[in-house]
Amino acid sequence: MKQQQVAGSCLCGAVTYEAVGEPQRFFFCHCSRCRKASGSAHAANIFLQPGTLRFLTGEDQVRKFKLPEATRFGNHFCGTCGARLPRQGGDMVVIPAGSLNTDAPLAPQARIFMGSRAPWSCHGDQVPCFDQLPTA
Ligand SMILES: [Zn+2]
Ligand SMILES: [Zn+2]
Repeated sequence: MKQQQVAGSCLCGAVTYEAVGEPQRFFFCHCSRCRKASGSAHAANIFLQPGTLRFLTGEDQVRKFKLPEATRFGNHFCGTCGARLPRQGGDMVVIPAGSLNTDAPLAPQARIFMGSRAPWSCHGDQVPCFDQLPTA
């Protein structure tokens, strides 16, 4: 794939960023770390390589948590609103897909770490879909 540019922001809008790179992967990660950090069934991460990640505003508000025993896992988030933000991880830029204001540069490819998924978590095809909040 060729290089693409994406851009996004946190929930409160203090932190904005852009990233340029070659889209490599788009994974839903169901591991226990991603569940804790996202508060949800899975993380939705896009990986760009080789990456350039540039914060346009609010970089000083980005908080970084490194899990001591983890080699790859990290959680970067806005210190004001707590929204997850991109990070440079190794030679990859990791972008939480939900933080994007632009279209995702590729479609989700896989759900990973399904072995540690929560029993209630989505896994593809059997969850009914609603356009909005269901009424009944
Ligand atoms: Zn924020
Ligand atoms: Zn994970």
